[in-house]
Amino acid sequence: MIRDNLSRLKAEIASACLKANRNLEDITLVAVAKGRGSEQISQAIACGISDIGENRVQEAAEKYGQIGPGRFSWHLVGHLQGNKVKEALKIFELIHSVDSLNLAVRIDKQAAALGKVQDILVQVNVSDDPAKFGLKAEEALEAIRGMAGLKNIRIKGLMTIAPLSGEPEDARPHFRMLRQLKDKANELRITDYELRILSMGMSEDFRIAIEEGSNMLRIGRAIFEG
Ligand SMILES: *Cc1c(COP(=O)(O)O)cnc(C)c1O
Repeated sequence: MIRDNLSRLKAEIASACLKANRNLEDITLVAVAKGRGSEQISQAIACGISDIGENRVQEAAEKYGQIGPGRFSWHLVGHLQGNKVKEALKIFELIHSVDSLNLAVRIDKQAAALGKVQDILVQVNVSDDPAKFGLKAEEALEAIRGMAGLKNIRIKGLMTIAPLSGEPEDARPHFRMLRQLKDKANELRITDYELRILSMGMSEDFRIAIEEGSNMLRIGRAIFEG
């Protein structure tokens, strides 16, 4: 099932890229494995998946203990609590969900203690949905400015989750806004390196996300559910 799902999904991603005049190689597919067992993750890896997404540190730690590090990367896509930062830094190559300057400061401190530089994305709640984590769009640039001076984190880009809706097209303005925020941050040279990653697009709305410039898709159900 996972093999068939992945080949179908990859064909759909390729056709969305063609339609949007994008390079397929520019797009990273993160297989979001929350609620799935290690066996399923291993299957996905055997089918060529190189990036695994989890939304809880504790759940990820258990699977990481079984599967371990390897020729694949672990991504944290869910909210990170301050008291889980230390454990998260041992597992995740990229933390997509940095939603406050305060959290970034904690990550920076822990990363310094571990002697590493932690890659992060800044999560923006572009739709200003009260049920979602993330900085408000109008706060994001200021927060990035505050994070830019932290030596043990590297801000690779931005992440957003589009509002739930039966209609994928509804996600478009939110994705577009995230891209514009990234462009603005780069234009203003808030960081002395370029923000490159746009983590946006899930099972329902990844085609729209690709059209709007996503280069990191977070997909769960379309891979793991038959
Ligand atoms: C679950 C989850 C996804 C994947 O969603 P699907 O609809 O299963 O593709 C992506 N991002 C985040 C933050 C998630 O929690």
